Amino acid sequence: MAQRRYSIFAVAREALRFHAGWERAWRSPEPKKRYDVVVIGAGGHGLATAYYLGKVHGITNVAVIEKGWLGGGNTGRNTTIIRSNYLQDPSAAIFDKALKLYENLSQDLNYNVMFSPRGLLMLAQSEHEMRGYKRTVYANNLQGVETRWIERDEVKDLVPIINLDGPRYPVMGALYQERGGTARHDAVAWGYARGCSNMGMDIIQQCEVTGVRTEGGKVVGVDTTKGAIDCGKLAVVVAGHSSVVADMAGFRLPIESMALQAWVSEPIKPVIDVVVMANLVHGYISQSDKGELVLGGGTDGFNNYSQRGSWHHIEETTRALIETFPVISRLKMLRQWGGIVDMTGDRSPILSKTPVENLFVNCGWGTGGFKAIPGSGWAMAELVAKGYSPLAAGFGLDRFRDGRFVDESVAAGVAH
Ligand SMILES: Cc1cc2nc3c(=O)[nH]c(=O)nc-3n(C[C@H](O)[C@H](O)[C@H](O)COP(=O)(O)OP(=O)(O)OC[C@H]3O[C@@H](n4cnc5c(N)ncnc54)[C@H](O)[C@@H]3O)c2cc1C
Repeated sequence: MAQRRYSIFAVAREALRFHAGWERAWRSPEPKKRYDVVVIGAGGHGLATAYYLGKVHGITNVAVIEKGWLGGGNTGRNTTIIRSNYLQDPSAAIFDKALKLYENLSQDLNYNVMFSPRGLLMLAQSEHEMRGYKRTVYANNLQGVETRWIERDEVKDLVPIINLDGPRYPVMGALYQERGGTARHDAVAWGYARGCSNMGMDIIQQCEVTGVRTEGGKVVGVDTTKGAIDCGKLAVVVAGHSSVVADMAGFRLPIESMALQAWVSEPIKPVIDVVVMANLVHGYISQSDKGELVLGGGTDGFNNYSQRGSWHHIEETTRALIETFPVISRLKMLRQWGGIVDMTGDRSPILSKTPVENLFVNCGWGTGGFKAIPGSGWAMAELVAKGYSPLAAGFGLDRFRDGRFVDESVAAGVAH
């Protein structure tokens, strides 16, 4: 069942026979009657959960059920920023675990996820931000996460196209994480999917979960558009639709769903080789391998399920970024898109048991969960397999009852 490894020899062999011998990267089976674990949602987090369930815990009788196509949710719609410079200890632990896994992910999955640790700057454009980022640097250094504060001159060296002296948004320095960067978002989903399929797991696309079946307070299966499927355990990993699925199981989540959007310019020659976030104006910028400038803004100010985002964000964010990066003003914008993100009150995720026995939930990554995919999958797999994960311990649902928030709302700003 396992596929041949991708290698330079395989590429050479296929080049000689007109690439006719490549196998499909993953199987597309019909669902079985029962699985030990069903994961709802074939985004990065759901697929990574399944992958580490098999790889670390030896649980391979697993189905990942997806209502659309795999990676078609937020995983394939984000701006791919990866960093681990969060303020609170539980956040730094899970995001840095993710970053460490990203560093070897292509080798582990035998799939090139194009991880590019090109360096990430979070600009300080007010006194308040400057104090906040210096505090984060101190916290990161205590957590063993290497970040440093850099002054204006070094910012200019790293980002020659930047205008440091904008009248409204002067740059005072930046929080710099050299190990931060980007990866190819859909390759992350495809790589995990191939890894899952190779272990014999079923990825079932175009199959919507329409109901959650319970008996005596315990989950026993799901109803789907391809029929009923029984399961021993259920992992709900559906990002912006988490409250919809929780409602099917009879409990509520402290989640708000909102549209978040991004847009890209026409491709140009390389002008910026780091990732820059300007959180004061809710903007961020990097350049893709194709040459497009990738720009993004904040969430809509109201709850909705439209995968689009409202107009004024594009205008406001682009206008603000132009002041700091005047080069943008000469570019045509090529396309724009949106996703539905799942926001919690403390802007930290939920990896948790639920009131329904054997039903676990992973959500609340909001505007910044792409970077967390490997760490989140690792922790969620451990939680599902063993009922406890040290990395997930701070992110239980009980924190909202007990008031033990993991407050990243100020530190993270735009939390991409
Ligand atoms: C515009 C934008 C920019 C972003 N930028 C960044 C960034 O730069 N860096 C970063 O770290 N994060 C970023 N994010 C956030 C990041 O994309 C998400 O946190 C992350 O992708 C969430 O992954 P996921 O696997 O949880 O969700 P998703 O990828 O959304 O997967 C959930 C899946 O569940 C499926 N599903 C839902 N309901 C059902 C059902 N009933 N039955 C079956 N399947 C169902 C959906 O179809 C979907 O495919 C951004 C998000 C957006 C929208």
